[in-house]
Amino acid sequence: MTKTAMQKIDSILVRYGEIGIKSDRVRSRYESTLVKNIEKALSFCEIPFDSVIRDFGRIFVQTQEVAAAQTIARVFGVVSVSPVQTNAATLEAMKDAALRIISPLLTHGKSFAIRARRTGTHDYSSKDIGVVVGEAIEQATGAPVRLTKPDVELFIEVRAERAYIYTEVIDGVGGLPLGTQGKIIALLSGGIDSPVAAWLMMKRGCTIIPLFFDCVPFTGDGGRERALSIVKALAVWAGRPLDLGIVHHGANLEQFKSLAPRTTCVLCKRMMYRIAALVAKEEHAQGIVTGESIGQVASQTTKNLLAIDQAADVPVYRPLACLDKTESIKKARRIGTYHLSTADHPGVCEATHRHPTTNADLFDLKALEKELPLNELTAAASNSLVWHRIYPEKSYRWVLCPERSQ
Ligand code: ATP
Ligand code: MG
Repeated sequence: MTKTAMQKIDSILVRYGEIGIKSDRVRSRYESTLVKNIEKALSFCEIPFDSVIRDFGRIFVQTQEVAAAQTIARVFGVVSVSPVQTNAATLEAMKDAALRIISPLLTHGKSFAIRARRTGTHDYSSKDIGVVVGEAIEQATGAPVRLTKPDVELFIEVRAERAYIYTEVIDGVGGLPLGTQGKIIALLSGGIDSPVAAWLMMKRGCTIIPLFFDCVPFTGDGGRERALSIVKALAVWAGRPLDLGIVHHGANLEQFKSLAPRTTCVLCKRMMYRIAALVAKEEHAQGIVTGESIGQVASQTTKNLLAIDQAADVPVYRPLACLDKTESIKKARRIGTYHLSTADHPGVCEATHRHPTTNADLFDLKALEKELPLNELTAAASNSLVWHRIYPEKSYRWVLCPERSQ
């Protein structure tokens, strides 16, 4: 239970970071996207709220639900949130409200500090707020003031005629509001890494279009189901349905495996990138995101990545390039995809050689590809693409509202 859980609140104060440094026009657009995304997240979690108000560098969500804070903190673009009580910005009103809020928290000789800030014109300074309110609390409770490392901090933020009082600052997920950047094709394998990579692009404001290459008969049927359930979880973060594209890739793997067994993985990835780049153009997307991490497996050596990259003529983003596996796993757990990626494993890809090349050469790869009916294979795979509309899954909504799981 949070510190604020027992208090009566009327709003959630929302802080955002990078949006604040944009030009007025861009900032206004980003802010209204953020407001819409906050409203969607709260509605999805069935958390009642009255209205969402923009106020010069802050957003205020009017609600009496403390749990709203946790959900809003998980909306991309939010830097931090505080459940607040709103009062008149007079010293007298602040004193009374501060006492009411802090007294129950100052048990067993706990120390406290008042952190005050102010914007607007008033006949007192921020320092005055600290002194007047601090003295009143000291007198009424006997609790000592300690400015460094106090047991309890009470924040008072005065904005024009209102004073917002709170005891908690909850970290937000950060990033930019989803939908403020372009579209990106997210190559989703169903493994642990690629959902994290897609999520990181969403965090930077990109709309993702997930694409799954079905490798049956070289993997089990479960791969497709796993990709579907991961997209349901990502759709929860997106706050709207996502269209998942599924491409048949088995026939391509058959060809690569019989032509050059040790190079199959690199040829496979080049084909995926080639088709993803075509889909990107069709869908007016500006790039591809993958979950590759340097040196993680044979196909992800820098030499192989160089050779794979050349198959796509759009930018390939690899937000996990420099993360260790343990770091990706930690993130996957936090975003709620880890248990989906590790459930019902469809088995390793049987097209993979025991000793795959780690040193692919672009010249040799192109020569190999010339031996294949590459255009026909690409066209057949592209034609096999089927789109599936995937809705946010209610039972995964705990990622957005931990206090109201299921
Ligand atoms: P994951 O990211 O799922 O953990 P992985 O670590 O098993 O994948 P690779 O198989 O080398 O790594 O794949 C590297 C990247 O290529 C993946 O992160 C993903 O973006 C993309 N990818 C791999 N297989 C597929 C697939 N079947 N469909 C779509 N994208 C794929
Ligand atoms: Mg990986």
